[in-house]
Amino acid sequence: MLVRILGSAAGGRFPQWNCGCLNCRGVRTGAIRARERTQDSVAVSADGHSWFLLNASPDVLTQIERQPALQPRGLRHSPLAGILLSNGDLDHVLGLFSLRESHPLTLYATRAVYQGLAEGNAVFETLRRHPRQLSVRTLELGSEVVLQLADGSPSGLTARAIAVPGKLPAHLERSSRPSAEDNVCFLIHDTYSAQSLLYASSVASVRGPSELFHMADCLLFDGTFWTNDELIRQGVGTASAEQMAHLPIYGETGSLALLKSLTCRRIFTHINNTNPILSEDSAERAEVEARGWEVAHDGMELCL
Ligand SMILES: [Zn+2]
Ligand SMILES: [Zn+2]
Repeated sequence: MLVRILGSAAGGRFPQWNCGCLNCRGVRTGAIRARERTQDSVAVSADGHSWFLLNASPDVLTQIERQPALQPRGLRHSPLAGILLSNGDLDHVLGLFSLRESHPLTLYATRAVYQGLAEGNAVFETLRRHPRQLSVRTLELGSEVVLQLADGSPSGLTARAIAVPGKLPAHLERSSRPSAEDNVCFLIHDTYSAQSLLYASSVASVRGPSELFHMADCLLFDGTFWTNDELIRQGVGTASAEQMAHLPIYGETGSLALLKSLTCRRIFTHINNTNPILSEDSAERAEVEARGWEVAHDGMELCL
């Protein structure tokens, strides 16, 4: 399985357009050693010809232009066969509306994520102007589906959507009831190499599904925040990581401690612009790496 990290920042990108925190100022001025990052999205492929996106970031067009494997090989062509949505957050779905030039795509989403996106949303009709433009495949929690190419043949990859603690997208909090289908991680399995990638970019807690994290050969995990009070302490927000449904990295109840028994390749992604691990010379970055974790960056390539 070929894996390309297209974007490794949380919602808002890094630097964030309206943020003057230490990291955002530092990366703009060059005062810190750090890479700019677009918003979270990953491309996976069994053969290098056809690709599936895990989430459609608002930065998807930039991400395609930076990634030759995702560019057209004909007059009107795209190697993109489908898109999987892990939740309905705008930083994971807005890219769909930039991919509306009549290329047939298959959308894989749970019923709750699909309904939250399509129901009562006049803009969604732009993806349904032609009968073949967008096919929708409903993901049942825990069931494995074959990711298909445009002609219906198997791609060599399968996906399982597994419910993980999370929350409704902010724009649905007042109108929808929470459901286990609101936030999933994906176990992507390559039927040829027999390797699996677990993509879990938004996870509020690992209490329930901890055995899940032992099933993968490589883990891409929620690295949004270093501490629970990161936004509050830096004076850029009022919500804790817990309130935003992201398990922080550091501390007795953080992911470094809770996932310390894992031996697979472990990579933090979906990193918020305030997170000190973005600064390559920070003590926090050194600690993460000393514990055997990597920090994803845009353009990172994995082969499983
Ligand atoms: Zn996000
Ligand atoms: Zn910032």
